Amino acid sequence: MSETMRFRDPKVAQGIALKIREVAPKKGQVKICHVCGTHEWTITHFGLRSLLPENVEVIAGPGCPVCIVPAAEIDEAVQLAKQGKVITCFGDLLRVPGSESSLLEAKAAGADVRIVYAVSDAIEMARAEREKEFVFHAVGFETTAPITAVEALGDLPRNFSFLVSHRLIPPAMELLLGVEDLQIDGFIAPGHVSAIIGTKPYELFTKVYRMPTVVAGFEPNDVLMAVYMILKQHSTSEAELENEYSRVVKPEGNRKALEVMRRAFKVTAGNWRGIGSLDNSAYALKSSLEEYDARKKFDIKPSEGKDIHKGCQCHQVIVGKIKPNQCPMFLKACTPAKPVGACMVSSEGTCRVWAKNVAAANTA
Ligand code: SF4
Repeated sequence: MSETMRFRDPKVAQGIALKIREVAPKKGQVKICHVCGTHEWTITHFGLRSLLPENVEVIAGPGCPVCIVPAAEIDEAVQLAKQGKVITCFGDLLRVPGSESSLLEAKAAGADVRIVYAVSDAIEMARAEREKEFVFHAVGFETTAPITAVEALGDLPRNFSFLVSHRLIPPAMELLLGVEDLQIDGFIAPGHVSAIIGTKPYELFTKVYRMPTVVAGFEPNDVLMAVYMILKQHSTSEAELENEYSRVVKPEGNRKALEVMRRAFKVTAGNWRGIGSLDNSAYALKSSLEEYDARKKFDIKPSEGKDIHKGCQCHQVIVGKIKPNQCPMFLKACTPAKPVGACMVSSEGTCRVWAKNVAAANTA
């Protein structure tokens, strides 16, 4: 069965693929970058790369919100767990490596680390166990940050606080434009982040960098359309901001979500695993909420943070410089069952997506 047979509407996909071939340049490489774990899943799972001309490449940038949490911030959670606080987090975070230990290893050593499915579950636990201090490690891009903001502005028990590791996507996209030996010709912007922030934050890329940018949804045909729209712009040397996902993404974004984030957070510099510090790329709780900020409430000694462990190439994978299968450890020393680097941990991590889908396809 060909990959397109698995599409909900294979004829449409084939039609877009034909159009892509019509507008793709006859000579020279075109490199299109997306920054979304779900886009990578769609592209890999549906074999979209196999539908593109050889000289059109789609690469994955820093689109996994768990993979880019720096080791130093995992270390903070581990330190708090060792101090006897109850650490709550989503399951994806548990195995992300810190400098010396993941939260899972801390849990195995006796720390109270609990997986929750919603922040509200963690708050309920804190209400039920008033004698313990609960910390929720809040991770994610602009998609999940509004939920943290809503809860932070709500009625919280005094024995509850947040360890905030939220990050913003546009600064990471801008970073990619300066990475040595990484010539990007267009961006596919993430649909769910854009549903919150709208399209305006991407104007920088078209106006300043002359970079074709298309906001796209997550169906295979959405991604193919975005590739087509970028190539069409490329063929006429245009640099426009287009919205392929207009059924969900409004130019102004989600005003309510933006407002709660404005009330709860300030935007600061933030460290990204394997990348380093990026200005204006992280959310932190405003000082009016500092009693719920675990970093202010407790004595956490910042660590240097060892982001990349020996042999791991996550720093190269995260910025799209190499593909997962170019890491010598891919599906050898590093597997979904025994991940070495953060990119193999989360279901949105590029290495994990490739391990699950590419390897399965190769052995089918
Ligand atoms: S395969 Fe594993 S070790 Fe290699 S880059 Fe990916 S996560 Fe890191």
